[in-house]
Amino acid sequence: MKKDDCIFCKIANGEIGSDTVYEDDMFRVILDLNPGTKGHMLILPKEHYDDIYELPDEVSGRLMGLARKLACAARKGLSADGVNLVQNNGEAAGQTVKHFHMHVIPRYADGSEPIVTWTPHDSDPAEQKELAKSLSDSME
Ligand code: AMP
Ligand code: ZN
Repeated sequence: MKKDDCIFCKIANGEIGSDTVYEDDMFRVILDLNPGTKGHMLILPKEHYDDIYELPDEVSGRLMGLARKLACAARKGLSADGVNLVQNNGEAAGQTVKHFHMHVIPRYADGSEPIVTWTPHDSDPAEQKELAKSLSDSME
């Protein structure tokens, strides 16, 4: 389903113009309007899914193959030295557009800011066991 009030639905389906890198029956890949680095891409499904929780296996199955091709293109075409794949779900995770998308961000060995960072903490073995069990038990 498409959503009338969703800008990524309109872009993905060509109702609003974009700098398109790739298109097929399921996805459109565009350049991010406010790129973190040169060649920052967004993979947009043509159907509307709010986030990863709604994504059908059929779509997620094809997604990583496409991300790999785009990573290779960034290396070959833009001489990228690395690539970050970033995918935010929910406000707490920094999602600002509520239409599933994956960022493919070429990285250059120029000492620029890290894109994805976190502070590593010490872990407690007993808590880790509990967490692993909770997650495992919650899988559907
Ligand atoms: P996120 O924080 O993961 O939801 O990322 C949303 C991304 O969409 C940001 O990197 C924005 O720069 C990008 N963005 C928002 N509107 C547009 C647009 N009209 N065309 C291209 N990129 C956009
Ligand atoms: Zn949408």
